[in-house]
Amino acid sequence: MKLQNNFSLKDYNTFRVDAKAKYFLSVTNIDDLYTIMQEKDFTESNKLFLGMGSNILFTRDFDGYVINNGLKGIKIIEQDENSAIVEAAGGESWDNFISFCLENNLYGLENLTAIPSSVGAAPVQNIGAYGVEQIDHFHSLTAFNINTGEILLFNKENCKFGYRHSFFKQPENKHLLILKVRYSLSKKFQPKIDYKDIRDFFGKQKDFDAKMLSQAIAEIRESKLPAISIYHNAGSFFKNPVISQEQLVELQKLLPEITFHNADSGKVKISAAYLIEKAGLKGYRVGDVGVSAKHSLIIVNYGNATGKEIFDFSNNIIKIVLDKYNILINPEVVII
Ligand SMILES: Cc1cc2nc3c(=O)[nH]c(=O)nc-3n(C[C@H](O)[C@H](O)[C@H](O)COP(=O)(O)OP(=O)(O)OC[C@H]3O[C@@H](n4cnc5c(N)ncnc54)[C@H](O)[C@@H]3O)c2cc1C
Repeated sequence: MKLQNNFSLKDYNTFRVDAKAKYFLSVTNIDDLYTIMQEKDFTESNKLFLGMGSNILFTRDFDGYVINNGLKGIKIIEQDENSAIVEAAGGESWDNFISFCLENNLYGLENLTAIPSSVGAAPVQNIGAYGVEQIDHFHSLTAFNINTGEILLFNKENCKFGYRHSFFKQPENKHLLILKVRYSLSKKFQPKIDYKDIRDFFGKQKDFDAKMLSQAIAEIRESKLPAISIYHNAGSFFKNPVISQEQLVELQKLLPEITFHNADSGKVKISAAYLIEKAGLKGYRVGDVGVSAKHSLIIVNYGNATGKEIFDFSNNIIKIVLDKYNILINPEVVII
């Protein structure tokens, strides 16, 4: 076990913010977790689990233990003629996991190709894209209680998945490290191509397979999103707001062309990107921080912005949208 002090997290977050962790450990086996629990100040210290840092904004140094999930391994644990359950360790990259499934002719997750995620973080915010969410194929997961050392099993119901939400995103459950996740996948390829971008990509072509769909998704994403290697960002900074019918009626007076999707309890989900764009903020920039000119949900660190500067900028976006449209948009990114 290699515990490092005063460790720069710059290479461990996709905003590439130079925050420091008082202690940093990349866990490669369960014993590392039991060992670190013995450190004398561990119980009372702050702890943060970190995957690929692609959904996190460090606004300050972290005065405690940052535990990076480096657990590896993917295997099929059960199968019959129609389906299989695949188990992946939390430190595997999500894209490696999708490749494994495709190589083994197991289908369902193609639309989630190219999301920068560790497998362990995928259930935390119930990742989703192009009409598919990880919940659609989720089977169960195993978590480690960092306070007690207990190993716990969670089924789909226990995880309380919602839109970019789960049990693990709640502040009181931040002591649970997701060790491994299991997905139930089909042996029959049933493409989900409800999204216009996907239909446009294939046009009249009907005979595509799962690998071609996965490749299509990667290409569509590349054409729509700013390249993360140049434009450091954490994907969608804000969640799409879910509003009441009354709010929608008021909003339609200002934005008659706004589209919406039905959500739970008679509410509707609207596009945060549309609100930001209509507020004239697409491409808006202050110093090294700005709204991407390519995608208005994405906030970019164009150079050496601090986490605090990115955070202040995001609050300004929230305020402008609220003042203009009376709609509160909330961050999807985890703010530390
Ligand atoms: C360019 C880009 C595009 C993106 N596109 C999408 C998209 O299409 N759809 C989508 O849903 N998201 C998208 N995201 C957001 C991001 O990819 C996901 O939220 C992803 O799941 C984060 O994974 P991570 O490993 O980087 O987690 P991190 O950013 O490291 O952590 C995120 C949160 O999960 C917690 N966490 C991490 N690992 C564990 C674990 N093993 N156990 C318990 N808690 C843990 C952390 O403490 C933190 O609270 C995008 C991000 C980027 C940069």
